Amino acid sequence: MADLQPVRGTHDLLPEEMRAHRRVSDLARGTAGLHGFDEIATPIFEFTNVFARTLGDTSDVVTKEMYTFEDKGGDRLTLRPENTAGVCRAFISNGLAQHAPVKYFYSGPMFRHERPQKGRMRQFHQIGIELIGAAQPLADVEVIACGRAILESLGVADDTVLELNTLGDTESRNAYRAVLVDYFQDHIDRLSEDSRDRLTRNPMRILDSKDDGDRKLVADAPIFSDYLNQESQDFFGAVTGGLDALGITYKLNPRLVRGLDYYCHTAFEFTTEALGAQGTVMAGGRYDGLIGMLGGPETPGIGWAAGIERLAMLSGVMPEADRPIAVVPMGEDAERRALTLVRDLRKAGLRAESAFSGNMKKRMKHANKINAVVAVILGDEELSRGVAQVKTLDDGTQREVALDRLADDLSVALSQG
Ligand code: ATP
Ligand code: MG
Repeated sequence: MADLQPVRGTHDLLPEEMRAHRRVSDLARGTAGLHGFDEIATPIFEFTNVFARTLGDTSDVVTKEMYTFEDKGGDRLTLRPENTAGVCRAFISNGLAQHAPVKYFYSGPMFRHERPQKGRMRQFHQIGIELIGAAQPLADVEVIACGRAILESLGVADDTVLELNTLGDTESRNAYRAVLVDYFQDHIDRLSEDSRDRLTRNPMRILDSKDDGDRKLVADAPIFSDYLNQESQDFFGAVTGGLDALGITYKLNPRLVRGLDYYCHTAFEFTTEALGAQGTVMAGGRYDGLIGMLGGPETPGIGWAAGIERLAMLSGVMPEADRPIAVVPMGEDAERRALTLVRDLRKAGLRAESAFSGNMKKRMKHANKINAVVAVILGDEELSRGVAQVKTLDDGTQREVALDRLADDLSVALSQG
């Protein structure tokens, strides 16, 4: 039945995949914490305006990709396509300006109506950080360094390249936009239809075009760095200087743009060759105008977001579940004793399960099926002596342990692997 399939572009995370996702978000949360970023969660839906205003009317996300609906009360709502706008909205709603600078980490699902393919889903998951209220270039360095440290903790840093660019300040951007428009106007007959559209609405986005004809034109287009004013050059110099001091290598990419007006100065992406077409794993930049644009106090900000699916795929690590202890009681009295035994093992922080049906052979089979590391065998005879047989399932060795020492004994034995 069609409606028993997950919706196109969505996906069930069964335990194996869930563990791989968890590994990514847990390591990222821990590393972000070491850098002073505390976790926050904003609602999964917001008023549509939160995104329409911040992402701009011309971005792909707003024009094509948003899940927008009217709820029963007549409010226009949108499932968040990204989390920066929500975090900035929360910054304003909660009056956090008085605490600035603030540093936040987030992790959760995002929604975009785009064509599903490998590494591109309609419901996907992102981790990200935002540093709000710091205008200094060293804040950019901190945010990039934290991103890089997270990639290292996941073991994928060496599979990625940091691509870096500056979009300068407003003055520099206006100067560049003007020469760019002139250049493309002169070659308008060679521009793709999409890019002709961009030329009036958002000309810098043409630099990002995937169209072959556009790309040839872009190759000879004026370069942004020639139009950066002194302040913008100094800012970028401080960013690259900080990265150099940390030994973080980068590749300058003058074609790396963010199409939206509030993006300025630093823009960066960690990209990889290992994932085919979906090569960007982490993308970020400075967004000094965003909070003002949302109606809050003019506040600078910088952050990045990374796709959990792509990070999990890139790392290729599929963590195993913890192997449980199987308690195998035989006889009614032993079964009753097994109830408290299992409870006490769990209290001691050990994963434990008991099988309550079938003969001994069937119960041992169950222990193997759940990939138990040991079986704790408890028959009437053991019970009367207050002991159990502890059998290591991988090598079949067996030893006797007093029941009142079992939790301690197994805690030690299992922690020694
Ligand atoms: P792309 O160019 O791949 O469409 P984007 O510019 O739309 O990316 P951002 O909005 O910057 O992406 O999101 C940051 C990261 O989130 C991406 O680098 C990617 O890892 C992940 N991401 C974005 N869209 C999707 C999606 N539909 N499915 C899975 N991951 C995604
Ligand atoms: Mg996209």
